[in-house]
Amino acid sequence: MSASFLLVYILAFVSWDFALAHEPSPLQDFCVADFNSTVRVNGFACLDPKQVTADNFLFRGLNIPGNTSNPLGSFVNRPTVLEIPGLNTLGISTVRVDYAPGGVVPPHRHPRASEILTVVAGTVFVGFVTSHPENRLISKTLHEGDVFVFPFGLIHFQQNVGQGNAVTMAFLSSQNPGVIAIANTVFGSKPAINDQVLAKAFRVDKSIIHQLQAPHN
Ligand code: MN
Repeated sequence: MSASFLLVYILAFVSWDFALAHEPSPLQDFCVADFNSTVRVNGFACLDPKQVTADNFLFRGLNIPGNTSNPLGSFVNRPTVLEIPGLNTLGISTVRVDYAPGGVVPPHRHPRASEILTVVAGTVFVGFVTSHPENRLISKTLHEGDVFVFPFGLIHFQQNVGQGNAVTMAFLSSQNPGVIAIANTVFGSKPAINDQVLAKAFRVDKSIIHQLQAPHN
């Protein structure tokens, strides 16, 4: 079985299980996250508004290219509420991705967000897969200035298919979108999912499961 076929199968295997929840509307101008509070709420408790400064809404450095010298050939810089406490309760965050030629953001999903992506530089092939039972691939080759949407919770991916480096900027509809990288979770969980389960689920020999697990160990 080819790796690409297996990949499509992986997408089909997990894409039905997407979340439906959205973040609630704010009930005040802002609620800057107070990381020192011991109060447990959905998100973070609010800092005293009198203590809030502009720095609570600031993140610097998204102009700086990330290091793509890694097996995926990509680098993701994803400031969430943990880096920008002013995002708390606002239901939005941003991400920059750098890609070496051929670099990929492997199939993944955000359990708490939709994503809207713009190509800032280069040529990027992107796609998402609809949920069960259609499992339809919706994909496009994007050029500089093109914008593409990944619907809430669906599995999607990006690959630099141009000659040079590529850069994308995206916005996500959550202060903390979360990332579920399919290969990392299915083949790289700790402890590992029983290989009998995976072999049966993916309808391949256990040796292929072990091959798929190897890069994640
Ligand atoms: Mn994404």
